[in-house]
Amino acid sequence: MLLDTLDPIAQALKQHFGHADFRAGQREVVEQALAGLDQLVLMPTGGGKSLTYQLPALLLPGLTVVVSPLIALMHDQVNRLRDNGIAATFINSSTTPEERTRREQAALKGELKLLYVAPERLLSEGFLGLLDRIDERVGLSLLAIDEAHCISEWGHDFRPEYRKIVQVRERYPQLPVLCLTATATERVREDIVRQLALKTPHVHIASFNRPNLYYEVRSKDRRSFAELLDLFGEAPDASAIVYCQSRKSVEQLAERLNENGIRALPYHAGLGAKERSNHQERFICDDVPVLVATVAFGMGIGKPDVRAVVHYDLPRNLEGYYQESGRAGRDGQPAKCLLFFSHGDRAKVEYMIAQKPDASEQRIARQQLNQVVAYAESTICRRRIQLGYFGEVLGGENCGNCDNCLSPVASEERTVDAQKLLSCVARCQERFGMRHIVDVLRGANSQKIQERSHDKLSTYGIGKDRSEDEWLRLGRALLHQGLLTETTDGYSVLKLNPRSWEVLQGRQSVLIAQVASTQKASTTGRQRRTQLREEMQLPAEGEDLFQQLRQLRKRLADEQGVPPYVVFPDATLVAMAQQRPQSEAQFQAIPGVGHRKLEAYFTVFTGAIRTYCEARNLPLAVASPAQPPKARPELEVSSHRRTLELFERGLSLEAIAEERSLKPNTIENHLVELIEAGEDIDIDRLVQPGRRSLIVAAFHRLGLPMKPVKELLGEAYSYGEIRLVRAWLERSDRENSFIEKGAK
Ligand code: ADP
Ligand code: ZN
Repeated sequence: MLLDTLDPIAQALKQHFGHADFRAGQREVVEQALAGLDQLVLMPTGGGKSLTYQLPALLLPGLTVVVSPLIALMHDQVNRLRDNGIAATFINSSTTPEERTRREQAALKGELKLLYVAPERLLSEGFLGLLDRIDERVGLSLLAIDEAHCISEWGHDFRPEYRKIVQVRERYPQLPVLCLTATATERVREDIVRQLALKTPHVHIASFNRPNLYYEVRSKDRRSFAELLDLFGEAPDASAIVYCQSRKSVEQLAERLNENGIRALPYHAGLGAKERSNHQERFICDDVPVLVATVAFGMGIGKPDVRAVVHYDLPRNLEGYYQESGRAGRDGQPAKCLLFFSHGDRAKVEYMIAQKPDASEQRIARQQLNQVVAYAESTICRRRIQLGYFGEVLGGENCGNCDNCLSPVASEERTVDAQKLLSCVARCQERFGMRHIVDVLRGANSQKIQERSHDKLSTYGIGKDRSEDEWLRLGRALLHQGLLTETTDGYSVLKLNPRSWEVLQGRQSVLIAQVASTQKASTTGRQRRTQLREEMQLPAEGEDLFQQLRQLRKRLADEQGVPPYVVFPDATLVAMAQQRPQSEAQFQAIPGVGHRKLEAYFTVFTGAIRTYCEARNLPLAVASPAQPPKARPELEVSSHRRTLELFERGLSLEAIAEERSLKPNTIENHLVELIEAGEDIDIDRLVQPGRRSLIVAAFHRLGLPMKPVKELLGEAYSYGEIRLVRAWLERSDRENSFIEKGAK
């Protein structure tokens, strides 16, 4: 695709960020920002929030100020922007005074487009003074507030200093404010609008569905560790996070993984700050694929290519689970979220809750635990449950990407047993918990039964035919289906509710899931094992090349001191491995390649691809399967035409670029492709004849690959010239006069 065939916003998206299309909602938010509206943007993690203020920042005159709560977040964002050639920086406590002055000067001179600061700094007198001067000299274009939920006590990450941002709003009433968050509750939303005094804001609420994430729950038992090994073993380089509940379990699991050949590092609050950040860094930079962590890890981590998030222990609540598992697949590529569940873990959490001093805290914690357990035990779509938690209704019956939708669990009718259990609850006068009820049903001889004379009840011993586990499972199913109630006062006393009576009266039948553990382990083992690998969707040949490109990316990233994903995301390397681009136009058509990445990485990546393919006799420049080699779009041809017309009118390459407001690079591309297409381009006008014959001689000596020729000719010859001559040579060759022309 050629840049100038697109509208200016899409053009800027491709040019600066390399993206071919907007993600859902992005364009709308960008347009409203350009129109100067206040906005509140709710998008899930990985939805692509940053771009919605970064692109307007580039298109608007003046400086965009971005408020961000964490240093790590600022660094990550600025790294990525810089690698896209965008003038962005931050000022925070890690900035030296000299450096700070330099950055302030740059802002005042209009050399910056984006400036990141923490809220405390934003509100300092010094910084407000700076803003005044910037406003006067170059203008402020936008105030973007990232993680805007921090303003609300109802969110999970309240930061009082966020409240004061409203002062900036009052100081610059004309400055549009763009608030962004991934926390969606109504209360938080209202808080943001009110506290920041947003003016009739445009509120954008994206769906919180993340279709690329595959959700699965497995029972946690003796086999679970082996399943983890299988999962990681299949794709040894894929990044994965494993969450555990305690420091001790983090340490133990990390150690066991290492003993079994999986490179993993621990992360928890008990480690020293230095060790913690070292482990985090090594994970982010792909030195180590697996990070085993407590929930202390994750906030502010922008690593987009995490391919799996495993909860090896129960998460605290469903919102936490959604956020933590949501750290997988930010790049939109398939990723996997796995939860290992056991009733033993549930009991542990219950015990911990019972230690809490405050009764209402206990009640809330217990309710949250029940929601998590209900999620884990559910046989309906996992996505539906999660989204339902945020008040969103998932369209359609089957999401097609969770275990329950892909391999539905069979259910069994257990109405008669349910009636036995419920009537036992009634006979015990709704004053006992599940264990006691099951004891009575099974005819146990406990002290409590003796004391209460419950062995005299008509329901005593009527459930001997089933095991204790089976009764407990039925009891939990009744609770989750709302056919029985449990008090939340910490005693968990069973109570009948109107629906219980419907069951007792035979007006409602009871279906519960068959035991999931045994059933699923045998049927889906194979399908699971291959998943992480399948995610890359590469043919065998491409996979090898992909690995080589990954290594190259890692080397380049290390040289620059940035994480590999800053150089290119996986999806870009996948496309390169498939399409094996060689010309600049082909390279630029790869998703994720913008103008600065083209400049910085064209030669080294196309060179590596060529070397790889030549050594194996593989074809270069393969058309992407997603974009079959259909006819070039009309507009693209006409863009080349336009360049040709101007060239024929006698304009130089630079003059054409100027005339068309395009980069000389782009015009050079047009000319190379026009020559390749057989247009009669006077090469003498582009490369002086003397220089040309030297280039031709070099090609004769070394063959057609560019790199050796460039190396031989040295600095004095540009890639552009060499490419033009090569295109011209190749065409002459096709026209069968290669020797004559080359030798003259
Ligand atoms: P969020 O802040 O909403 O979690 P980010 O802004 O970090 O999301 O974006 C997540 C990932 O998606 C990043 O790797 C980013 O480069 C990528 N991304 C954003 N917008 C697009 C787009 N239009 N096309 C392709 N990738 C995109
Ligand atoms: Zn589903």
